[in-house]
Amino acid sequence: MSRVAAVRVGVLALQGASAAHVNACARLGVEAREVRAPRELDGLTHLVLPGGESTTLHHLLTLFELWEPLRERHRAGELALFGTCAGAILLSRGCGGKPPTLGLLEAEVERNAYGRQVDSFTRVLELADEPGPSAGLTGVFIRAPRFVRVDPALHVLARLDGEPVALETPGLLATTFHPELTAETHFHRRFLALRAAAV
Ligand code: GLN
Repeated sequence: MSRVAAVRVGVLALQGASAAHVNACARLGVEAREVRAPRELDGLTHLVLPGGESTTLHHLLTLFELWEPLRERHRAGELALFGTCAGAILLSRGCGGKPPTLGLLEAEVERNAYGRQVDSFTRVLELADEPGPSAGLTGVFIRAPRFVRVDPALHVLARLDGEPVALETPGLLATTFHPELTAETHFHRRFLALRAAAV
């Protein structure tokens, strides 16, 4: 518990599913604060980039002048980042141009890879360390992206039909699904155990 207690967590709250992430952290005994301005990053060790619409989030990050502070704090090893769905898109190397991304996660993405909103689905995930569907760990995929061209150095935490859907590397965690929408705390616990790493 002491490792969790040492973290100071923020959730980007420009658009999208921020409250559910605050609640997921609360279930682990961690109070997360909502972040909208660069100065609100001060003192944080961890920041969640929630799902939403990555093109809208891209515009809001520009409007609130958050691109460089996020990149710099992450690269300096001060801020671990967790991107879910649209947040994972923003962390990635991109998806062929639009929207521009932070380029911190060595993977590309294909947006809306499973179809439209009506094609959203819930599926049991395969945990990479435990082959086969894992009891109790469910992924909620809402107009989800797919990771493509994943750097083999990244640690795959979970797969769906053999494809990576959760990736981890020092200071970064990214899921194409919404772990904050289930009662499971597996991925948030992993995130809070991550340490920021200079890159
Ligand atoms: N389809 C959205 C996008 O491309 C992501 C959806 C989500 O975050 N649930 O930005």
